Amino acid sequence: MKFFVRTFGCQMNQNDSEHIAGILAASGAERAATPEDADVVIVNTCAVRGKSEEKLFSYLGRLSSLKRRRAVLIGVAGCVAQIQRETLLRKRPFIDFVVGPDNYRELPSIMEKATAGPCLATGRARAWREFGPGETLRESPASAFVTVMEGCDNFCAYCVVPFSRGREKFRPLGHILREVRELAATGYREVQLLGQNVNSYRDPETGRGLPALLDEACSVPGIEWARFITSHPGKFGNDLIEAMVRNRKVCRALHLPLQSGSSAVLERMSRGYSWEEYAALVGRLRQALPGLLLATDIIVGFPGETEEDFEATMEALREVRFAGIFSFRFSPRPLTAAARMRDDVPLEVKRRRLLELQNLQKALQTEIFRSFVGQDLKVLGLGPSPKGGGRFQGRTEGNLVVNFAAPRAIPGEFASIRVTGCGPYSLHGELAG
Ligand code: SAH
Ligand code: SF4
Repeated sequence: MKFFVRTFGCQMNQNDSEHIAGILAASGAERAATPEDADVVIVNTCAVRGKSEEKLFSYLGRLSSLKRRRAVLIGVAGCVAQIQRETLLRKRPFIDFVVGPDNYRELPSIMEKATAGPCLATGRARAWREFGPGETLRESPASAFVTVMEGCDNFCAYCVVPFSRGREKFRPLGHILREVRELAATGYREVQLLGQNVNSYRDPETGRGLPALLDEACSVPGIEWARFITSHPGKFGNDLIEAMVRNRKVCRALHLPLQSGSSAVLERMSRGYSWEEYAALVGRLRQALPGLLLATDIIVGFPGETEEDFEATMEALREVRFAGIFSFRFSPRPLTAAARMRDDVPLEVKRRRLLELQNLQKALQTEIFRSFVGQDLKVLGLGPSPKGGGRFQGRTEGNLVVNFAAPRAIPGEFASIRVTGCGPYSLHGELAG
């Protein structure tokens, strides 16, 4: 039995796909190089934006033509699976099974049942479900994702995550540390602690939070860099800033989604902070953590967003000077509060605002990147550069991508790279010294 997993969406989904692959491998299946070589293809989906769902359906179209040519089991996993459930089987009858995020461990039996007829497994688990040893097949030999929590209780007005992933569930601290130790022992130097809302982490047994988790993870011998994603700016306490200050292994980089620079829009989004509060947090962080690089998420065209609101977002970008942004056009998602608001910003206005925002960010980012030219930076080797030319790719502590020339670069090892130039999205360089 050969399997192929295609992933859409966030790091959490990438990590879920690593579990799916691990569970299938543990049951004796083998990874196929392409869907055409596989006996089962699982699509791990993302429901966060309309666009991610469109991509899923076009991919499913490709799979249905594959299925007309040869016998193959087709499964849909992840957030769309959890939300659409039987509708998905009805809408796309060539799908053999639909499996939600709490049901991956049953995959071998689900697949067995699916050979006899369509199978649905989208039950919800209340408590944390631990994956067994060997039930993770990691894609990156350099950096390891470690899930620390799942779900979200924030109910931002636009967001489907509390419905697709359910309420917050926390992984016991002891289990997280066991995994971090195993990772360090197998040669990983960087761990990325994952959750939709990591700074609400609480150990279910002792109530210890993210600051304690960072202390413990950083004391594991062999771990040199630790990151955590994603943080909620409304819940970033001074205790967390202090934990970053005292643990030098915590990378001086944060993904801190702002969403909008207009306090009126933030309020309608139910984000729980104003622009002024966000800016004050950035000030505190930058004072405590010199050299900190920030990245963010922005939504344009949220219901009721005026030209002035949008201008406030542009101004926020100029003020904060993010080193990276992910920016999106608002799309209404099922079950969310914003889906009941009037989606009143016309598509062409959303498109224009997104383009203006991205052009501004490109210019700001190029300026920030230029300031690194001539410096030697510590870089974690990730593997060959997708740009080819025998070059390698790595990432800096600030989470900037560097493409560099070197006789060899081992994924997972650190190198000192002299930055010789930059483009709008990455740095380039060569081995220093
Ligand atoms: N848990 C993270 C991110 C969740 S989804 C957080 O709280 O920041 C990732 C990003 O997708 C969000 O930060 C937001 O910018 C974007 N997003 C979510 N729902 C969206 C929607 N309905 N329309 C457009 N963008 C959306
Ligand atoms: Fe969605 Fe808000 Fe939760 Fe992030 S914090 S996952 S945006 S509801």
